[in-house]
Amino acid sequence: MFASINPYSQKRIKSYRADNASIIEWKLKQADRAFADWSVLSLRERTDYLRKVGQYLTANKQRYGELMTAEMGKTLKEAVAEVEKCAATCTFYADHAEAFLADQSIKSDRGDGPAQSSVITYQPLGPVLAIMPWNFPFWQVMRFAIPGLIAGNVGLLKHAPNVFGCSLAIEEAFRECGLPTGVFQSLLVDVPVVEDLLKDKRVKAVTLTGSGRAGASVASIAGREIKKSVLELGGSDALIVLADADLDKAAEVAIKSRMQNAGQSCIAAKRFIVEKSVKKQFTERLLHQISQIKQGDPMDEATTMGPMARLDLADAIERQYQETLAKGAKRLTGGQRDKCNVQPMLLDNVQPGMAAFDEETFGPLAVLIDAKDEADAVRLANQSDFGLGSAIWTQDLDRGNRLARQIQAGSVFINGLMRSDARVPFGGIKTSGFGRELSEAGIKEFVNVKTIWIE
Ligand code: NDP
Repeated sequence: MFASINPYSQKRIKSYRADNASIIEWKLKQADRAFADWSVLSLRERTDYLRKVGQYLTANKQRYGELMTAEMGKTLKEAVAEVEKCAATCTFYADHAEAFLADQSIKSDRGDGPAQSSVITYQPLGPVLAIMPWNFPFWQVMRFAIPGLIAGNVGLLKHAPNVFGCSLAIEEAFRECGLPTGVFQSLLVDVPVVEDLLKDKRVKAVTLTGSGRAGASVASIAGREIKKSVLELGGSDALIVLADADLDKAAEVAIKSRMQNAGQSCIAAKRFIVEKSVKKQFTERLLHQISQIKQGDPMDEATTMGPMARLDLADAIERQYQETLAKGAKRLTGGQRDKCNVQPMLLDNVQPGMAAFDEETFGPLAVLIDAKDEADAVRLANQSDFGLGSAIWTQDLDRGNRLARQIQAGSVFINGLMRSDARVPFGGIKTSGFGRELSEAGIKEFVNVKTIWIE
């Protein structure tokens, strides 16, 4: 049995019985059969289905938002916005998939020759296993599922047990929109089952969003089975503030980036690296922004920060906070905790060797790191095992652009909120993972790039 617990009230919402071996086998059979029919539909037929899913999500955004808020504690406003983002991504791919997946003809240098009518085609792989976390319970799933299904694959979802209600709701959305049985199924299974699923010949590939520990385990099994994997893992993103930055805007976005979703986001700005000459002014602005945060019941419209999703996650951020303090960092605000409700924290004088610098911090903990100049800022930003995203704040866009190229990360945002957006690739380097989601790159992760050569 699995239970989802409301992190704000600590009350049990619902219990779920784990799928037994015969249910799992039945779902795998369904996926295999569904792939045979789904993959031969025209791209237009599949995009029509996904367009419908987008409309269905919009019509049900309040209900789905409430479910997310109850299960993992994000504010209702953030939860409803998450459903809207999924709906917009359905429309994005429905509009662009045809161009992304169109056959490419191979041009011969001489305008003739054997390759004249040869083409590159993009064909689906089959059932793809998606292992997903609880922090964005709809978005993390849908950003794989929308392009994955449009490309002709079918999905099997192993969600985090604390959001099994969301897992079933997503399955319901696909079903209600008439997608054939088996095209998207939710598996209510525990981690040990994942290895058997990956070894099953019917499962062709895997995508995982979550911790490095989970990613390493899944990728090593997928490697042994010679199956494609995409990993979207953690981050310890740097937010660099140079002396010429718009400090008001930088502080506002920095706190939004760090504290939204109670700090539980892979691409949150986790290390604020600030040129020393403006640190005092920037810090004052940060403290002001933090003072505006209203903690409380996430269902309440006035609340801007809800609880963390689980007690063990709140324990983890508390440990990192305490260890960083013990190594010499200075507390500027926060640090109180009541079960899953963790007060936003700001630490100063954080340096390499401290937990909040070296590890991914997944909670409302912002840290300030001194940089002597821009070169020092880039050096500190890159002094991390992670490489997901980064942000640079400067009013000199040429300078921002130049420095962005020196940052070791999957993306760099200049003067803006680091976020995922369907139009641009999303993913990391180093221990933040490999492969890309979203955009044209994302829809091409789970396809067979097939050459058809005609003599
Ligand atoms: P996990 O990585 O453990 O969980 C993410 C998903 O992976 C869940 O569905 C989980 O299932 C599954 N999983 C865990 N271990 C394995 C495994 N060995 N094989 C296959 N699947 C596995 O994250 P946690 O929820 O435990 O959070 C721990 C930390 O991970 C966070 O504090 C944060 O640092 C990081 N994290 C990063 C996320 C991101 O967006 N990049 C998202 C979530 C967490 P189950 O829940 O059943 O264990």
